[in-house]
Amino acid sequence: MCCDGTLFHSVVLQPSDSPRTLSSLGLTLKRKPGLTTFRQPCSAHQNNQCAIYENRPQRCRLFNCQQLLRVASGEITQSVAQETIASTREKISQVVEKIERLTETNPNQGLTQRISVALANTAPCLERTELEAAMSEIQSILEKEFRVREEDN
Ligand code: SF4
Repeated sequence: MCCDGTLFHSVVLQPSDSPRTLSSLGLTLKRKPGLTTFRQPCSAHQNNQCAIYENRPQRCRLFNCQQLLRVASGEITQSVAQETIASTREKISQVVEKIERLTETNPNQGLTQRISVALANTAPCLERTELEAAMSEIQSILEKEFRVREEDN
């Protein structure tokens, strides 16, 4: 979820990252003066894995979601975290099914972008209302269970 556009829209490269190396490894970078980012879904996210794991950017190395932090601190067990991850992924799959029933969207875009497109392309109807409610629930779960404040990470 932290690589496929569910949690983040883009990631900022850090001074210790080498844009040249990351680009040569296939990471699609977006450069502006003083700021280099890469969009999510990440171009290195393949088959549910990081294709450049050993050379991944600094932010990817440092990021710990709330589940990982809670397991590391002993607040929850790994199996509890895995259950939360699995149930969230299942809810996300259900949202994606709702999107696909409503309209055509680009499967290479992140969840939030796909929802925005689906809502923009759909007239008010029961399915649209259900999609909005489902997305609201997902965002609330992502905030409560996965996203972290910068200072926590
Ligand atoms: S570089 Fe690897 S760890 Fe970082 S977002 Fe992309 S797939 Fe995920």
